[in-house]
This record gives sequence, structure tokens and C-alpha cells, in this order.
Amino acid sequence: MNEYICPNCKTRSYSSATYENLKDPVCGECGAIVVPASEPEERDGLKIKYNVFKVENGEPVFDCFVLRPDRDPAARAALRAYAAATQNADLAADLLAWAERLEQEAAK
Ligand SMILES: [Zn+2]
Repeated sequence: MNEYICPNCKTRSYSSATYENLKDPVCGECGAIVVPASEPEERDGLKIKYNVFKVENGEPVFDCFVLRPDRDPAARAALRAYAAATQNADLAADLLAWAERLEQEAAK
């Protein structure tokens, strides 16, 4: 049996399904996406901090990574790296302009 915990309200739930196979990994109390309860809390590595949903249909997206370039210099560096790597010239220009604006605001 696998144990899951809601990062929002700390409600615990159980399922025989692994996390990848959970059909509805949503907290029954508050609706947040649950995470495996076995994750060590003292380690400050990769962890689930955000629930992400597709704009077009509201479906949850699980394998993604949220950046906060407004407050994280590493995220601004990631925007510049993505702009350098993408084949989409319009997206690259938008990302560079966004990173530049945020760098200017961070320097104030
Ligand atoms: Zn909850």
C-alpha cells in the first residue's frame, strides 16, 4: 500500500496504485494534488510545489517544472538558456525580453 499526503492540508490517503498510476491524485479534503508521503522532508531537492493545469481543458499536468523568474535568478538564467535552445524565434525573443525586464526590475 502506498501512502500519499496533501501538501496543502496534510491529509493522508492510501492506494495500491503507484504515484504514476494514480487515476485521481487529488486531495479529497481540499482538491490539491497529493504527493507520496515517503518523500524525505529534510532534503531541499526537487519537490512538488505547484499544481499545474492545462488552460484549454483544466486537466492536471504532472511531469512539468515551474519557474519563478520574478524572484529566482536561476529561473531567469533558465529563460535565457531556453531562448538560446529553442527553434521558435518569436518565443526566444519574448523570453529574452521578459528576462531582460525582470533583470532590470531586480537591479532596482
Ligand atoms: Zn488537502
